Amino acid sequence: DEKLLTPDRQPEDTGKPEERIRPQRLAEYIGQKDLKEVLAIAIQAAKARNESLDHLLLYGPPGLGKTTMSLILAAEMGVDCKITTAPALERPRDIVGLLVNLKPGDILFIDEIHRLPRVTEEILYPAMEDARIDITIGKGQSARTRSLPLQKFTLVGATTRVGALTSPLRDRFGLVQRLRFYEVDELQQIVLRAAEILNTPITPDGAAEIARRSRGTPRIANRLLRRVRDYVEVKARGADVNGAIAAEALELFNVDPCGLDWTDRRMLTVIIENYGGGPVGLETLAAATGEDAQTIEEVYEPYLMQIGYLNRTPRGRVATPAAWRHLGYTPPDNQLS
Ligand code: ADP
Repeated sequence: DEKLLTPDRQPEDTGKPEERIRPQRLAEYIGQKDLKEVLAIAIQAAKARNESLDHLLLYGPPGLGKTTMSLILAAEMGVDCKITTAPALERPRDIVGLLVNLKPGDILFIDEIHRLPRVTEEILYPAMEDARIDITIGKGQSARTRSLPLQKFTLVGATTRVGALTSPLRDRFGLVQRLRFYEVDELQQIVLRAAEILNTPITPDGAAEIARRSRGTPRIANRLLRRVRDYVEVKARGADVNGAIAAEALELFNVDPCGLDWTDRRMLTVIIENYGGGPVGLETLAAATGEDAQTIEEVYEPYLMQIGYLNRTPRGRVATPAAWRHLGYTPPDNQLS
């Protein structure tokens, strides 16, 4: 199953059951300690001053909880959150329509904000800075600019590629926060919580088996939980999901014990088989996997580095002895583990 381990949102990740397990308040949001601390202070300060929250840019790989955090901020501030994505804001009137309908303090969440078209981005500048939009009416000689006041609002931008934002846009965010991959024990808590909401009996061991294979990503953890749940309902009716059952189920779905997917394996295999373990340049890995270099750099490599399978060196990427062993190779003697 190709899609089981991709961090991007799949059709099965949306809908009622998913919304039920999405944390609603800051206290239910597991992990991301630094982010929560910064935002808890921002919320308290904004409330004390009776102001809207500062504009916030969240960046990090997909599925780590950016949309969820935006919804939580709205809940904590007692305002509404409108969710959209940059590719849906192609024409100026798309963004203008959203902006003029915001109530005081509302949050506008724009996913993939690095993909905003230039015109849309330029409408956002005065909107973010002075709560107004400048619109041009008419064409050619008779064109006039009119300024339209907006309610004070909070823009929450999300991106996997913070480097791809223009600096004028980036500079307009008062808060810029990075989301990190989750540790296995945090993912275990996420799985236990979701299982409880879904009425699926599970042991801590069972949750840990799922957590280890989830690539540091809550979205993947929830998806794997759903698969394991289906498996248990069919194969072991009524049984608790324990470690053995979870491992058995995920093996059946071909989920690697460390959560590596095809692209990770292909990258590491190329480094090992074609380049003696590296160093290898990023472009070579991109060509070998058909994945674009930026995605490799911002989604794949951070996870491989976190689990200790890949190092970035000035001369290129190197597979660690742990990666050799995981893929069934014997690491060369001259490499230290
Ligand atoms: P992103 O916007 O970064 O792609 P989402 O906010 O859509 O990710 O998160 C994906 C899913 O993972 C959510 O539906 C939610 O159920 C779960 N999730 C994300 N972050 C957390 C967290 N910190 N604690 C518990 N569940 C989380």
